[in-house]
Amino acid sequence: MKSETTIRETLMALTTGPVNAYPEVLQALSRPVLYDYDPNFRVFYTSLLRKAAKALDMIDGLPVILQGEPVLALEAVAASALRTDDVMLNLVNGPYSDGFGIWARRYCRAVLELRADFDMIISPDDVRKKLKENPEISVVSVCHHDTPSGTLNPIDEIGKIVHAHGAALIVDTVSSFGGVAVSPGSCCADFFITGPNKCLGCPPGLSLVAISAAGWARMHANPQAPRGSVLSLLDWENVSDPEESFPYTPSVSDLFGMDAALDRYLHEGPERVWARHAATAAAFRAGLAAMGLELWARDPAFAAPTATACKLPPGVDDKVLLARMQQDYGVMLSVGRGATAGKVVRVGHMGPTAYPIYAVPALAALGSALRALGHDVMLGEGLAAAALCMK
Ligand SMILES: *Cc1c(COP(=O)(O)O)cnc(C)c1O
Repeated sequence: MKSETTIRETLMALTTGPVNAYPEVLQALSRPVLYDYDPNFRVFYTSLLRKAAKALDMIDGLPVILQGEPVLALEAVAASALRTDDVMLNLVNGPYSDGFGIWARRYCRAVLELRADFDMIISPDDVRKKLKENPEISVVSVCHHDTPSGTLNPIDEIGKIVHAHGAALIVDTVSSFGGVAVSPGSCCADFFITGPNKCLGCPPGLSLVAISAAGWARMHANPQAPRGSVLSLLDWENVSDPEESFPYTPSVSDLFGMDAALDRYLHEGPERVWARHAATAAAFRAGLAAMGLELWARDPAFAAPTATACKLPPGVDDKVLLARMQQDYGVMLSVGRGATAGKVVRVGHMGPTAYPIYAVPALAALGSALRALGHDVMLGEGLAAAALCMK
């Protein structure tokens, strides 16, 4: 007989993405599927692009929607923006920024790195110095919130320095956009890569890329920029024109979901949305501190408002802890990835879970599981501290 393991239903996913989708997004996903050549679909698609441009606070132009999870967009930008004569500076302070270097090395002449410890942020002064020492740097890439470390880089400041140097800037804002104030204009990004599956509260499946005029010119001047490929950005340049056909069939249902998410974001008001992300992070962190647990970020000021990485207490195995929370309480959290694997447990404050009340179940599950594993934490103090932050 086969042995059977019972997996408990997850009641609450307080992960760092994917997170649960907003109810109106789930409803929109179930709308009847439109044929992509239906004129109604073309009207919808163009209005969606405009809505996304508004949410992204784009100064001009429309974003590109790629029909796949944002990793597709990151690789597409590497393939399209980087030329064989480019020298790219990769700012690395976490697994995602580290990973972007793998793609970049495929496409450009050289990749230089400016590294910071993964519990630190990138210092704008170091960027300025590195650019001064290496005037040949033509592109810089950076991850705003490197999710496995839960730290937030001072992207607007970095962007201004890169812009002054005259290099193109590639920014990954997948897990920050929609949860914190950031836009292509605020950070002078030429390629601003994000997606609806983190702070906008959609399931994974699409990417959003805002490209500056200089970014488009860069791709046009790159003979290696893909065309007729899933990695192509250029193929999507003119799809807001109903006379142009799509390079391939868009993910119709996911687009309906993103449309509902953007409506929600714009109607609620970006500032209010950012405020509740920050309030949730603050409540959770007040609880962590009162329980006697430590933030992963070396300075609390480095920690992102859209996720919290907490140091695992000594002797606690992340997989055992995760399984315990899932099986005993039906609560799912995230653990580390890459270099932070085995060192942290993480809670997302993203979209539908960015309400301070969620700090309480996250702390309850984490604290109770740690106690069950024999690690003493001040559970009551933690819960009280979080509840006192509630507005
Ligand atoms: C989630 C995320 C992505 C998308 O990658 P997946 O690991 O496939 O979800 C890219 N960059 C960052 C910073 C992310 O948080």
